[in-house]
Amino acid sequence: MAIYLCHEQPDLYVHDATVLDSRPGAVVLSRSAFHPGGGGQVSDIGDIEWSGGRAAVTGIEIDGDQWWHLLAGDAAPTGEVQLRVDADHRLRVASLHTVSHVLNAFVFAEFAGALVTGAQINGDGSGRMDFDLPEVDNDRVRALAAPVNEVIARGVDVRAVYVDAGDAAINAGLVRSMSVAPPPTPDGKLRIIDIEGVDRQACGGTHLANTGQSRSIVISKVENKGRHNRRVRFAFAS
Ligand SMILES: [Zn+2]
Repeated sequence: MAIYLCHEQPDLYVHDATVLDSRPGAVVLSRSAFHPGGGGQVSDIGDIEWSGGRAAVTGIEIDGDQWWHLLAGDAAPTGEVQLRVDADHRLRVASLHTVSHVLNAFVFAEFAGALVTGAQINGDGSGRMDFDLPEVDNDRVRALAAPVNEVIARGVDVRAVYVDAGDAAINAGLVRSMSVAPPPTPDGKLRIIDIEGVDRQACGGTHLANTGQSRSIVISKVENKGRHNRRVRFAFAS
């Protein structure tokens, strides 16, 4: 994983770019503040404007080093363009993603090192995490919504720091996920999301700067998925 522009400038939502390559309904740009998605998180969406028109950007398709920005319709813009990230969508996804780290921390503590086996953060304000949790009362999992919401209400700072990937490997618990741990950057660094006093976790997604920016959440469902896996569904409280 490269160091993304959206990580270097998390408040950059509108910027100019040059089209490097295009085909009907997709463009590759000289720079992009869009997050391409990954690790269960959906990509940013938004729109693109050029001298001949405008189109919604519906997602990103990663092809090697190239990010194809997928457009609604079959336009093939060229030249100079203006790109705009949908800020509401970004906030929803970053909120749920940040909250998923907090939930992960409480599950890990409450159930003696239980690991994540999968995750999905959607653009509609819902998400799920799968945990390796054999023989656990689902009501105990559901009850973790209360301490998660307490961390949201308390307003805890969230910071991204880069550490040497070799150091991270010996720091137990830092790369906690079983299947969604991001690869190091080309210079061997791992991006760590530090929710002060709550959680430290290697992650390449989008996050809030403070947990207080999120709405509170509900755990809507806990399902058994196989003998070991529990699927925990959560969403913003209405
Ligand atoms: Zn994350």
